[in-house]
Amino acid sequence: MVDLRGQYEKIKEEVDAAILNVIESTAFIKGPEVQGLENELQEYLSVKHVITCGNGTDALQISLMALDLKPGDEVITTSFTFIATVEVISILGLIPVMVDIDPDTFNINPEEIAKAITEKTKAIIPVHLYGQCADMEAIMNIARENNLHVIEDTAQAISADYTFTDGSTKKAGTIGTIGCTSFFPSKNLGCYGDGGAIFTNDDVLAEKLRIVANHGMRVKYYHDVIGVNSRLDNLQAAVLRIKLRDLDNYKKARNEAANYYDNAFKSVEQIKTPMRHPNSDHAFHQYTLQIEGGGRDDLKEYLASKDVPAMIYYPVPLHKQKAFRNSNYTEPVLPITDLLTEKVISLPMHTELTEEQLKYISDSVHEFFNN
Ligand SMILES: *Cc1c(COP(=O)(O)O)cnc(C)c1O
Repeated sequence: MVDLRGQYEKIKEEVDAAILNVIESTAFIKGPEVQGLENELQEYLSVKHVITCGNGTDALQISLMALDLKPGDEVITTSFTFIATVEVISILGLIPVMVDIDPDTFNINPEEIAKAITEKTKAIIPVHLYGQCADMEAIMNIARENNLHVIEDTAQAISADYTFTDGSTKKAGTIGTIGCTSFFPSKNLGCYGDGGAIFTNDDVLAEKLRIVANHGMRVKYYHDVIGVNSRLDNLQAAVLRIKLRDLDNYKKARNEAANYYDNAFKSVEQIKTPMRHPNSDHAFHQYTLQIEGGGRDDLKEYLASKDVPAMIYYPVPLHKQKAFRNSNYTEPVLPITDLLTEKVISLPMHTELTEEQLKYISDSVHEFFNN
């Protein structure tokens, strides 16, 4: 599904030197690489504050902690995402309210958000799934009208641009109150271990986020709030600074692969290729097809027999996961989420796909439907 080795080979000299440099400096935690990365990300994203942390899940948890939500407060989000998004809501004793998605973009449906708002609603967590932004203009309008915080989960969409109806653009993760991303190796900006970051334009919130991520302390050994220990290390930051320079090229390479697939599948009736939303470009963390008329699982098996990896993101939507079942849980009715769970399949998508590989993969898909 990804080719991290191929990508590494291209930047090997720079990466190896940077890693050695960190080792020789013995500044492993809180060093110049982390500071440098935070500054460079601020510039790249045009955002005032970047707070790096241990991973994307921590980024989400720290964000919710910094917003001072109380147990029982409700957070509206999507069920069609990775577990981390909803897990952190539950861990903090908050109530996840999962609503349905748009059938074309896989992203949370703003109309469903509006319907789910109650007195207890305090925040919305849209996820920019597969690399394309949720309908942020509508979401921000709803948030403003109802005085809600918005935490963007942009773990899959760093580098995507969102365009508002007035023509202005912002980077994914810089539109809401807070944005959260992951630097897990297979993400679009991935390090060589775990890592994450939080974005905000709010000075007061930025300070709180830093304190929460650092054991609740502003001054060493004086703890003002209950926090966590979550930090990015200098080795990872050194790798990320090198890859950040290539991030726009990575997005371009992914888009070229996506365009190839789009073209290749135009003629296949049973395949619906990913919709390109007019307000968001696509970072193509995943290239995800919808297979009409059943046969999705057979296609996956056929591709496996041809040594083509394919994945289902995600095989069980979160609202149906055992982990959320407790005596207080009422399973929401999410027909679009349920339907898409049966239809989606993601093909190999990364920065190193060659035309030969793309041809082999799409030919294999064609063969399945022609047989
Ligand atoms: C990967 C991912 C996360 C979690 O990131 P980690 O760094 O693995 O903790 C959260 N949300 C989404 C949508 C993700 O894809």
